[in-house]
Amino acid sequence: MSRRDRAVIFDVQRFSVHDGPGIRTVVFFKGCALDCAWCHNPEAVRPTPELTYWRDRCISGCRECVEVCPETALFDRIEARIAWSRCTHCGLCAQTCPADALVMVGREVGQRELLDEVVKDREFFATSGGGVTFSGGEPVLHSAFLGDFLPLARAEGLHLAIETCGGAPWELLEPLLPSLDLVLYDLKVMDTALHQRLTGKDNVQIHEVLRRLLARGIPVEVRMPVVPGHNTDDGNIRATAAFLTGLGVDRLSLLPYNHLWEAKLRALDTTRRPLGIRAPEPDFYRELESRFEASGIQPYR
Ligand code: SF4
Ligand code: SF4
Repeated sequence: MSRRDRAVIFDVQRFSVHDGPGIRTVVFFKGCALDCAWCHNPEAVRPTPELTYWRDRCISGCRECVEVCPETALFDRIEARIAWSRCTHCGLCAQTCPADALVMVGREVGQRELLDEVVKDREFFATSGGGVTFSGGEPVLHSAFLGDFLPLARAEGLHLAIETCGGAPWELLEPLLPSLDLVLYDLKVMDTALHQRLTGKDNVQIHEVLRRLLARGIPVEVRMPVVPGHNTDDGNIRATAAFLTGLGVDRLSLLPYNHLWEAKLRALDTTRRPLGIRAPEPDFYRELESRFEASGIQPYR
């Protein structure tokens, strides 16, 4: 259950041009409804603030962190410094580390504090047709917080968008709709069993939430995070196109694959493993777009 007054976010990114129209500030919430094998923000999945360890920054000979850990989870060595099974993510070591080798990811924010942060670039929003996008993780899991925050942001005249995987129940998304200008909605894989295997959840509810959203008439941009070899086969393209066409949707955004997420894994308390997929060449996307076009779906360009 999310809180009304506070939420855990892990980043506020200014001057984004990839998360809705114009220049935008993107608020990244922690906690997700899915657990995708290719998650580009693996630091978003855990709902609470968490410790990360960047061993390249660690100072040889320093042992400040080892002294303060109440769980004796830290070893006096640079490689495999942390016994993650003992770490409670209390953050004491990060406060002590002089090199930012130990860093907490995620912080609690209140309504007013976040509002002050997102209105900073309102001139850029006005001149570019931009605004604020709520992302994550899954921002809809923070429905109670956003239910109060969105009207405050709207009263400031901001264009408001949300990025969702549809994995949260409709009852959490629905109350937010009157304050939103745009929903960016991700579809990952059409085959239900494969979706379950790759994301930890089937796609039945995800499809139903999209149907309900479209019926409400709110602007929706459907997107597909491209994961080469996992959702780029002809079968998935045809099934995605048929599903969208059946809903009266004739456009799709293809989100490029970014393999850099794999580099984060070594810093995190996670069992997620690299997929070893290389970033495709631009030709790959042009060909993918053509295949969707041949199935009646136009790409957003
Ligand atoms: S965050 Fe983990 S490793 Fe650091 S002091 Fe707390 S329990 Fe120890
Ligand atoms: S406090 Fe920071 S720099 Fe010092 S040993 Fe620990 S991780 Fe390395």
